[in-house]
Amino acid sequence: MDLLDTLTAKGLRRELPTRDEALAVLSTTDDELLDVVAAAGRVRRQWFGRRVKLNYLVNMKSGLCPEDCSYCSQRLGSKSEILKYTWLKPEQAAEAAAAGLAGGAKRVCLVASGRGPTDRDIERVADTISAVKEANENVEVCVCLGLLSDNQAERLRAAGADAYNHNLNTSEGTYGDIATTHTYADRVDTVQKAHGAGLSACSGLIAGMGESDEDLVDVVFALRELGSDSVPVNFLIPFEGTPLAKTWNLTPQRCLRILAMVRFVCPDVEVRIAGGREVHLRTLQPLGLHIANSIFLGDYLTSEGQAGQADLDMIKDAGFVVEGADEATMPRHRADVAGAGSCGSGGGCHPCGDATADVATDTAADTVAGSADEAPAGAADEARTDLVRVRRRGAGTELAPNA
Ligand code: SF4
Repeated sequence: MDLLDTLTAKGLRRELPTRDEALAVLSTTDDELLDVVAAAGRVRRQWFGRRVKLNYLVNMKSGLCPEDCSYCSQRLGSKSEILKYTWLKPEQAAEAAAAGLAGGAKRVCLVASGRGPTDRDIERVADTISAVKEANENVEVCVCLGLLSDNQAERLRAAGADAYNHNLNTSEGTYGDIATTHTYADRVDTVQKAHGAGLSACSGLIAGMGESDEDLVDVVFALRELGSDSVPVNFLIPFEGTPLAKTWNLTPQRCLRILAMVRFVCPDVEVRIAGGREVHLRTLQPLGLHIANSIFLGDYLTSEGQAGQADLDMIKDAGFVVEGADEATMPRHRADVAGAGSCGSGGGCHPCGDATADVATDTAADTVAGSADEAPAGAADEARTDLVRVRRRGAGTELAPNA
């Protein structure tokens, strides 16, 4: 059985691949790329069918952060000409969220720049959660406020938050290269606090910051170990005015391999194509849907995405369907670990997709594992600064949001 057969079989059984197998996915050649996508697609359909979950970002507080994350346009000393504003009022954030929900989003992600919230900030966000949920009873709310102090996760859960996002971003070994004002351990601690308070943990990575394949595998294994229910996979947007402005080293093919590796390591977890989708996957975005089961609708925190309608058209044209508010995101067996989006039935383990779990009958076994003789494709990408657009609409502006 070759590499892709092994990974597919393990994914259908929710079994952890070896590090070498995960690394081998990142080394496959362009000739093998569609086989990699097909194999990851079988695992994706097993656990998530052809559903695509739409998430909508609301940037409640933008820019002027005291932290120094080198990839971030909101960082300390950033020269990026992004929107900068302090906290939106709860009703303003709820209005922004409503636009995303009307566009088909199921989850609203309430995000604020900063090291972490004060207790007053938690009160403010609690009011915002109430305003969002009053207007939209079935909405999932994920909150992203940075590092959490004791009891803050519990307060957010009590206020109605369903999930908390805090990304690990990169491997423990390389974390000090991308930020110095906090540590990898700080980030792990916050994810654990959120999980411990009963919030669904959303934690992911950023690819394209100069990390090695080993770093990527390290961070994805760490995310699986942490029990993240959703894993946003960001592709670095090299913002002018940040230290990584000239760091263009991703190709669309490389992005697909990274997504596939994440899917094989985290087979039954919500894998989301996050920031950088349009910039780096470009015309291959629909292939990404065969691997990931979740995307952001419309714009990102400080950059603009493609039109929300283009997202919806792409999903339909590629043969996928937008996940409805009344549909469970997560497979049943994860109900006991995921607060939001689980079917809630508890116990049992039933694939939610259309693939059979009987891997013995797998006839898609004729794919070829990466040849050691062939160099992996994916030379450094050209700089596509033309695709990086600073957000000038939606939250914090007078202009209509993109949803
Ligand atoms: S990623 Fe968050 S903590 Fe880091 S600089 Fe940006 S807003 Fe601040």
